[in-house]
Amino acid sequence: AKRTRIKDLLNTTEFGQQVTVMGWVKTFRNNQFISINDGSSINNIQAVVDFNSTDESLLKRLTTGAAIAIEGEIIESLGKGQRVEVKVSRLEILGDSDAEKFPLQPKKHSLEFLREIAHLRFRTNTFNAVFKVRHALAYAVHKFFNDKGFVYMHTPIITASDAEGAGEMFRVSTFDPDNIPRNDDGTINYKEDFFGKATNLTVSGQLEGELAAMAFGDIYTFGPTFRAENSNTTRHLAEFWMIEPEMAFYDLNDNMDLAEELLKYLIRYAINNCSDELEFLKSRLLEEEKQKPQNERSELDLLAKLNFCLDNDFERITYTEAISILRNSKPNQKKQFKYLIDEWGADLQSEHERYLVEKHFKKPVILTNYPAEIKSFYMRLNEPDAEGRRTVGAMDILFPGIGEIVGGSQREERLEKLEGRMAELNIPTEEMSWFLDTRRFGSAPHSGFGLGFERLVLFVTGMTNIRDVIPFPRTPKNAEF
Ligand code: ATP
Ligand code: MG
Ligand code: MG
Ligand code: MG
Repeated sequence: AKRTRIKDLLNTTEFGQQVTVMGWVKTFRNNQFISINDGSSINNIQAVVDFNSTDESLLKRLTTGAAIAIEGEIIESLGKGQRVEVKVSRLEILGDSDAEKFPLQPKKHSLEFLREIAHLRFRTNTFNAVFKVRHALAYAVHKFFNDKGFVYMHTPIITASDAEGAGEMFRVSTFDPDNIPRNDDGTINYKEDFFGKATNLTVSGQLEGELAAMAFGDIYTFGPTFRAENSNTTRHLAEFWMIEPEMAFYDLNDNMDLAEELLKYLIRYAINNCSDELEFLKSRLLEEEKQKPQNERSELDLLAKLNFCLDNDFERITYTEAISILRNSKPNQKKQFKYLIDEWGADLQSEHERYLVEKHFKKPVILTNYPAEIKSFYMRLNEPDAEGRRTVGAMDILFPGIGEIVGGSQREERLEKLEGRMAELNIPTEEMSWFLDTRRFGSAPHSGFGLGFERLVLFVTGMTNIRDVIPFPRTPKNAEF
């Protein structure tokens, strides 16, 4: 049906024209006004209905949540807050909504409650805003890389390779669970499986991305990745989207420059293209802040926080420098960190990362050159430092309120070094000869990183739980819809 979208209607100057609007009833006022939303805008259109001359049985069906179509004249609004409204001459109920049972009442619901009804939460202002921002950011990712001449490369979802050896993989199998073929020793016989091999859902497209970068120069992937993280945090999902560029002839500094440029581009894109949504999310957050005690409220509002990020260079420090800052810090007046890092070589806990970003530097931080022992085999070995310690050319970007948002590195392009690292970690080289071939035939320096898309959406929207920035969150025991 021909209809006018509310977003366009709210900007129109064509008073007196006839329009058809279709959407869902949000609220009523004074037995005269109906607010309708069709998803195109976070704002509603107000329909003016003469209830006295409207059929009684039709009025009864005019309930919160009902899908309706209205026809009428565009008029200038006399009320505050809006410019345009529609004087209704014809009203039709497209789909009834039982007012008693409809879970979204015209009041503020908690995010926890809305998570339970993820199939209906799209109809709230908050989730309209969040998923519009998510959409805009996804589009901007492609725009950024396309404008730079990167090739969008699709890497496989089902794979036999265990990129990280992290043991966080979902196994893919076509076995009948009641009839799993076994070897004589009782272990599962994967040779009988559909793929003739143990396969998993991908945890990262990086290794395949490297193969493509060794031919196209600059590529990126942007797709779902899967990690069987059996933990409930506000930063981890079992299914999340990752942006993974991989660039030939890039060293670690080039890699950091690109990651910082990308993050700033995406944040700026959202500011420029989602102003209604971000204004709404900003005021939503201000409401929340008011609930907190004065000294815990954040100094910057959402937009100020985003702009601050654009206006400042990210702080770049090495792991070794970070450790010495942490050692000399006193996060709680007198006490040092509970897990005091007295051993160089330990991985940072999230409280350490938060301290560096939120208390010490008060801006995004890029941490580089981690100890080899706590990073993946494919990261490039640095020359041992003055004290003979081994580090790799890794870089993690840490954001305020988020923690790690990007993990990346310069890759090890030297065959012998790479084989040496794989041997150390008992990674079978025969099974990965496809990967090692890139180092055998025209190996070139290259780098790349993974940006967690939901963590970016968290930062830009100011939401605090990762379940609230993906339409259908997958977390332990949560996969119904
Ligand atoms: P973390 O330390 O937070 O567990 P990671 O170091 O395991 O992350 P990487 O393997 O470096 O993650 O993946 C690259 C990026 O993907 C991370 O920087 C993060 O932004 C994102 N990411 C990783 N795991 C998850 C997850 N379970 N859910 C959502 N995003 C994730
Ligand atoms: Mg992890
Ligand atoms: Mg990490
Ligand atoms: Mg990481």
